[in-house]
Amino acid sequence: MKPIPYGRQNITEDDIQAVANVLKSDYLTQGPAIPEFEKAFADYIGCKYAVAVSNGTAALHLAALALNVQPGDKVITTPITFAASANCIRYCGGEVVFADIDSISYCLDIQKVEELFKKAPKGTYKGIIPVDFAGYPINMEAYRKLADQYGLWIIEDACHAPGGHFIDSNGNMQMCGNGQYADLAIFSFHPVKHIACGEGGMITTNNEELYKKLLLLRTHGIAKQETNFQNSIEVAYGNQLETQNSKLKTYPSWYYEMQELGYNYRLTDFQAALGNSQLKRADEGLQRRIEIAQNYFEAFKNKPYIKGQSGVVEGHAYHLYVIEVEDRKKLYEHLRTNNILAQIHYVPIHLMPYYKQFGWKYGDFPIAENYYKRCISLPMYPTLYPEEQEYVINNTNEFYE
Ligand SMILES: *Cc1c(COP(=O)(O)O)cnc(C)c1O
Repeated sequence: MKPIPYGRQNITEDDIQAVANVLKSDYLTQGPAIPEFEKAFADYIGCKYAVAVSNGTAALHLAALALNVQPGDKVITTPITFAASANCIRYCGGEVVFADIDSISYCLDIQKVEELFKKAPKGTYKGIIPVDFAGYPINMEAYRKLADQYGLWIIEDACHAPGGHFIDSNGNMQMCGNGQYADLAIFSFHPVKHIACGEGGMITTNNEELYKKLLLLRTHGIAKQETNFQNSIEVAYGNQLETQNSKLKTYPSWYYEMQELGYNYRLTDFQAALGNSQLKRADEGLQRRIEIAQNYFEAFKNKPYIKGQSGVVEGHAYHLYVIEVEDRKKLYEHLRTNNILAQIHYVPIHLMPYYKQFGWKYGDFPIAENYYKRCISLPMYPTLYPEEQEYVINNTNEFYE
C-alpha cells in the first residue's frame, strides 16, 4: 500500500499541457502568463489587485516592505503558524510580538490582541498578521475595527484559505484575502497548499498605492514606465546637465531607473501557467475538502478520546484537518506504522531557539502550548480516496478502542 500523506498536489493532463505550452512559447518569465494568472486569481478571490511572486515567504516579505516595517516596529502574530508569518517582520528588523490562540478556532485570539493594546501606549504596535490557520476563516471585519481604533495595518496570511470566506456584519460573504478589510493578504502555491505552482505566492489588495509599490519591489525597485520616472530626460540620455528648457521631449525607450531597493521575487511563466490551470479546479477541490472534513467530523464527534477537532465551520477552507488527542505521540507512530503520514502543525514559533533569544519561553502561551501537545493533522487533499479516508478513520479509532 502506498503511504497516505497529510497533503499533496493534484496534477492533471491539462496542467501538464498548460506548462508545456509555456515552455514552447517565447517567454519563460516576465511574459503574459503572469498577468493572466494574477487577473484570474484576483477574480477568484474578489479583490482588485493581485501580484504573483516566487513563494509565500517572498509575498510576506514584500508585504512587510510595502507597509514600510522599520527596525524596532512591533508587529503581532500567532505562535501557531508556519515560521514565515513571523519571519517577514524580522527581515525588516521589526520586533515580533506573539499573542495566544483561541482554543476553538486555533487562530490568533482577537481578545488577547486587544489586551496587548490596552496595556501599552497608543502607537506601540504597528501591525497585525492574523493567519487563517488550517483554513479557518478569520473575521477580518473585527480585526479591521480593532486595527483602526489603534492605527495599525493588517496583513492577512491566507496561505491556508484560498476559497474560504466569513460572513460580515451586513450578512455579506467575504472571501479570505479579498482586501475588503485587511490592507494586504498573501497566499502560497507550495504543493501542499490548495493551488500548486511548485513554488509560488500571491499578494492581494484593494489598495492601488500598495499595489504599485509591490510591483516595483518585486523587480529590483526598477520602474520602466515613462510616467513614473524621477530623473530628467537629459540624464536618461546620458547627459549630465539637466536644463530647464530641454529640446528632448520623451525618454529613450531603453531607459529604466531603480527607485527603491527591491528584489527579484518574480514567479516564472510556466509556474504561473500551472497555477492558473490549477485555479480552474479550485472550487472542485475545495468542495472535496469540505466533504472530507464532514466525514472526519461525523466519525469523531462523539468519541471521548477526541478532545477537539477542526469541525464543520461555514467558510472553512480545510487546508488541514486537525484533531486534538491524548497520547498524540503514540497515535502518530501508530498511523505511521500503518502508512498514514499524519503531521503536526505547528511547533509553536515562540519556542523556536531563534525566537527564544528575544525572551519568549515555555509558559507564555498556555492555550497554544496545550494545543501543540495534542494536535495532529490527518490526511486532507482532494484526491484522498474515500477508502483511504475510511482507513485513516478506522486506524485512529482502533488505536483508542
Ligand atoms: C506555506 C505557508 C507560508 C509560506 O509559504 P511558502 O510558499 O512556503 O514560502 C506562510 N504562511 C503560512 C501560514 C503557510 O502555510
